[in-house]
Amino acid sequence: MMTVDVYGRPDSLEEAFDLLQGEGNVAVIGGGAYLRLPQRHFDVLVDLSRLELDYIRETPETVEIGAYTTLRSLETSELLTREFDGLLPKSVSHVVGVQMRNIVTVGGTVGGRYGFSDLLTALVALGGMVHLYRRGEVPIDVYLEEPKGEKDIVEKIVLPKRPLQGSFGHVRLSEKDFAILNVAVVRDENGCRIAVGSRPAPAKLAREAMETLKGQPLTVELAEQAGRTAAGELRFGGNLSGSSAYRQALCKTLVRRGLMEVNQ
Ligand SMILES: Cc1cc2nc3c(=O)[nH]c(=O)nc-3n(C[C@H](O)[C@H](O)[C@H](O)COP(=O)(O)OP(=O)(O)OC[C@H]3O[C@@H](n4cnc5c(N)ncnc54)[C@H](O)[C@@H]3O)c2cc1C
Repeated sequence: MMTVDVYGRPDSLEEAFDLLQGEGNVAVIGGGAYLRLPQRHFDVLVDLSRLELDYIRETPETVEIGAYTTLRSLETSELLTREFDGLLPKSVSHVVGVQMRNIVTVGGTVGGRYGFSDLLTALVALGGMVHLYRRGEVPIDVYLEEPKGEKDIVEKIVLPKRPLQGSFGHVRLSEKDFAILNVAVVRDENGCRIAVGSRPAPAKLAREAMETLKGQPLTVELAEQAGRTAAGELRFGGNLSGSSAYRQALCKTLVRRGLMEVNQ
């Protein structure tokens, strides 16, 4: 059971940020799906529901996704089905079930930096920027690798619009389980970006593998080589879902498949 002394529903981000800096166990609550899993007590919970952060909108150069947007809204968005080769809807369509996707938020996923996340892998491959209220914009792959610092609020995700091909691959023991490994590949005019998540650590770019692809036509042999390089450069851990050796083997295959998919 979760217990809370003060449940704050601020009317501005400034007020929300000030509340978050309070003494004791203070946190932002998104959908609350993960926050309430363990039994714990909060001195203050900061609810962002009044801040109008539930949006998916476009500017001429970007798509912006507000922190309070649910995964179900991503999945059913016409804009996101059209943009980025539909990679974001594809990446979240396996997350538990529709009821859960109607609850969980983009801000909670990014703020929680969950290793098992499917969405984070797609956002890293797309080169997304996290917009934090106090700190401003940070590339999402950098944000995921940093130790948690000053408490801040994820306000929105900003994605650069451009023509691209995207693929999302994952292996699960059962349909609604956490992915044992997930891989997102994005190919645009600058080359390929490969993100590997659920290692079980959070998504990371396979930079050496990306480098091997530069300036060369994408062939089956090159895709295989990139798969081997990605499996060699990244670190994998073991847990109940799979051993590190199994994850490494999956990485090789999923990267190769992802690259061939964006090559069509
Ligand atoms: C049983 C279960 C299975 C799941 N399986 C998967 C899966 O297979 N794949 C997958 O991708 N996801 C999965 N999810 C995760 C889910 O998609 C969300 O990432 C997760 O639930 C957090 O979202 P939330 O909105 O519920 O956040 P909350 O639980 O409310 O918060 C999570 C964390 O983020 C912080 N936070 C919330 N909002 C913000 C903000 N705006 N700024 C800064 N920090 C913030 C909170 O303080 C907390 O630390 C699963 C979740 C559950 C409960």
